[in-house]
Amino acid sequence: MRVDYEDLLRTVDKPGRYLGNERGAIRKDPASVAVRFALAFPEVYEIAQSHLGLQILYDILNRRTDVYCERIYAPWVDMEAALRRHALPLASLETCTPLSDFHIVGFSLQYELTYTNILAMLDLGGVPLFATDRSVDDPIIVAGGPCAFNPEPIAPFLDAVVLGDGEEIVGELAEAYRDWDRRDRDTLLRRLAAIDGIYVPAFFTPTYAADGRITAIAPSDPARPVVRKRILRDLDTVPLLGRQIVPTMDIVHDRVALEVMRGCVKGCRFCQAGYIYRPLRERDPKALLAHTEKLLKESGYDEVSLLSLSTGDYSCINPLLAELMDRVAPKRIAVSLPSTRVDALDPHLLAEIKRVRKTGFTLAPEAGTQRLRDVIQKEYREDELVQAASLIFGLGWRSLKLYFMLGLPSETEEDLHGIIALTRRVSATGGHRHPVTASVSTFVPKPHTPFQWAPQVTIEETHARQTLLRRELGRHRLGFKWHDARLSYLEGVFSRGDRRLATAILAAYRLGCRFDGWSDQCRWDLWQRAFAESGLDPDWYHRRRTLDEVLPWDHLDSGVTKTFLQRELAAAFARTLTPDCSIERCTYCGACDFTSVRNVTFHPRGAKGSESRGATVDAWASEAMPADLPWPTRNWQRLVDGAREPASPAPDVLPISDVMGSDSAARAQRQRDHDRPTRGQGNAEEWIGSERHGLRPDDDTRSAVQRIRLVYQTVDRARFLGNRELAIAFVRACRRASLPLAFSSGHHPMPRMSFGPALSLGFASHGEYLDLDLTEVWTAHDVMHALNGELPEGLVVVEADTLDLRAPSIDLALRAFVYSVSLQRLAPERLADDVIASRVTAFEAADSFPVTKRIKGRDRTIDAKESVSIRSAGSRLLHVRTAVTRQGTLKPNAIVAAILGLDDLEVALLSVTKIGTIVDDAIESPPVATGIEAVAP
Ligand code: SF4
Repeated sequence: MRVDYEDLLRTVDKPGRYLGNERGAIRKDPASVAVRFALAFPEVYEIAQSHLGLQILYDILNRRTDVYCERIYAPWVDMEAALRRHALPLASLETCTPLSDFHIVGFSLQYELTYTNILAMLDLGGVPLFATDRSVDDPIIVAGGPCAFNPEPIAPFLDAVVLGDGEEIVGELAEAYRDWDRRDRDTLLRRLAAIDGIYVPAFFTPTYAADGRITAIAPSDPARPVVRKRILRDLDTVPLLGRQIVPTMDIVHDRVALEVMRGCVKGCRFCQAGYIYRPLRERDPKALLAHTEKLLKESGYDEVSLLSLSTGDYSCINPLLAELMDRVAPKRIAVSLPSTRVDALDPHLLAEIKRVRKTGFTLAPEAGTQRLRDVIQKEYREDELVQAASLIFGLGWRSLKLYFMLGLPSETEEDLHGIIALTRRVSATGGHRHPVTASVSTFVPKPHTPFQWAPQVTIEETHARQTLLRRELGRHRLGFKWHDARLSYLEGVFSRGDRRLATAILAAYRLGCRFDGWSDQCRWDLWQRAFAESGLDPDWYHRRRTLDEVLPWDHLDSGVTKTFLQRELAAAFARTLTPDCSIERCTYCGACDFTSVRNVTFHPRGAKGSESRGATVDAWASEAMPADLPWPTRNWQRLVDGAREPASPAPDVLPISDVMGSDSAARAQRQRDHDRPTRGQGNAEEWIGSERHGLRPDDDTRSAVQRIRLVYQTVDRARFLGNRELAIAFVRACRRASLPLAFSSGHHPMPRMSFGPALSLGFASHGEYLDLDLTEVWTAHDVMHALNGELPEGLVVVEADTLDLRAPSIDLALRAFVYSVSLQRLAPERLADDVIASRVTAFEAADSFPVTKRIKGRDRTIDAKESVSIRSAGSRLLHVRTAVTRQGTLKPNAIVAAILGLDDLEVALLSVTKIGTIVDDAIESPPVATGIEAVAP
């Protein structure tokens, strides 16, 4: 089956999406486990593999000996077409097992516009779409993630839904399946429904009034009318990610990812994540620090990202960042904080960020006027934002993006003009020298938020607002980016939709809708047809909901009470801000039970009801913070004021030194300063995102002292790695092997590596060339040995030599390549052996053999006889020698196709291996090359 898939890989874009040969991917014998679990992500590989939650569950499940967990992602449209054309099922990355052969399939629901992809994956995987059509032999289809808090539009397709944190539930799910007698599916569903946090849609029945509203959602078990979300009470009880899967291709978030905390109690009233993930649970910073180094070493990544809903609000962000930078910056590893607020940009944190090169920042004012910011619970004042922008420009960032939403409840034209005025003011702080862009999305009301009753603006209203912003921002030469109004419209329909929408989703899927969240893929015309066919009015789902209306998700309990949400709605329109309960006092949202569930923070002083573990890091926090803050934030000030009260004595020895064991001058200075009063960490109020950044050029102090030339093989799935992917694989392997790679100088230092000519995708090779420059002397053998322990499957170094640093590039010495082309997979009735032999003989005897080659975008006719020789090397095996010419080299499969008259599908069945490279006049063949001597030079 793997071979059949590999035939398809030659015909699709980015075959690396489907290889499954990443380092860190788990290999188990499927026969040795009781439960086979597929984690399914309804998006393309680059997005799916970037999702940290999926990696966490993959790690947890695969730690069990009775479970094998694999991954299945949505095939891009070209791959789906290829699978259907060849009648192949959607299969897992690890073992190429069809989706239907798994016991449990768990979908991650991150975005409503992936719903048609879920149906495509089930259908391609051979699983009945409707839960009611599945038998005991079909997998259990489960879903989790933020959209699971209103899964009603896709409920008929799901057997079960996980509400809340999945770490503990996935094991219980697997055990329930393992212990099931396989006789009756309903028995299993009842067992699942008894697990805390699992919702079985089949056990709840909604009824509707004549006007379309829901009258009731009746549970089949009256004793369980509501399903409450599952909460992981303490993140530190679950081990940090054991090992990270390191892709061999570029993905959206390609770096070590560490979750520093879960939950956010800032209370932004539009933000669903801020309510469904409550309470706040922080991880121990010392454990994070130690684990970061381990993951960096094992993965070979050059960036680490500290993830959470608001990393700037993590109590220990400043000392953690300071120490992390001390450790990783000399190794050219960057630290990024994708979610940080303006207030977190105190001078200390900025001093750390200053150590890396700056590209662009994103600030998120969210709304243009203070009035509207009060409504949505954005605590910062405009002057703070402008001050932050000034600091950012002052420190050398060259561009700034401001993120806003349009269509927020109570928005007026004045608020839109506020967006323009604020963007202008920010631009002015940079002297109008730097690009400033307003990036504006459309507000979509989300379930379980105070704005869940609010109406959504129409597409026409959205377009009118976008037109105004585009015109006015353009007039002032400010950038403007907007979100496709049609996508926000669809998202709004499904976000607050009910179970009847399943018919529309099914119709849209059957009409051909896929990847609806991609502007260039979304088929608005097909969606309109789908709604018409299902008899549903999508506008109806955007209406204002009355406070007494039964909402489609009322039987799903996120922990936060409806009373609290209604209080927050009232507070929004009274422009009243609700305090942060991790710093001040509990505001009784309902998320905590104050016995086992409560905020877990590392603030030196926790709020009432919180479990503060700050005392363990007090000294660390205080020694990492400067005594005087030129730009004190309100939350910071609150904490400092609190710290003036008598505090427990600081330990004699810095706790951090226990885990760091370093004696750097900086730390010694901190130790000397250690008698300063204990302080906490400044909290943040505004989001800020730093983009990927590398080291400053002046950090590049070591020059190359040695060049190593490697000859490596590419076999198996590594044949489908493109040039960029090969480079990524080698750089990461070098990092993992601790090879002292030399870097180029300049603003964008790059590893000094030089590859030989690119090999065509899908070709195996017994010998490719790579030159590496090192800053320390290593033996060639040690380099080879170290790399072979770290390269991904299918890449093997077979030779290594030391060269002079001034040695010419390998490209200059290349004369020809020798390939073996196997015709074994071509049907003999299509091309008999004697036909092959006669055509090869005819080619050799011909005076000329014109073939067409595309060079720099233009078709050129080349005489293949001038550079190619070919001969039979056994049964249905040819050896092809192609000389390097000024026009490059001809591809052996193209030549064979031209000689034998093959079509494109037949060309895909040729198996090509480069078996030799001729350098100058000598044949330099890798050890395993055979038959080259039979080919005339
Ligand atoms: S119950 Fe109180 S302390 Fe817990 S998250 Fe809600 S407001 Fe905060």
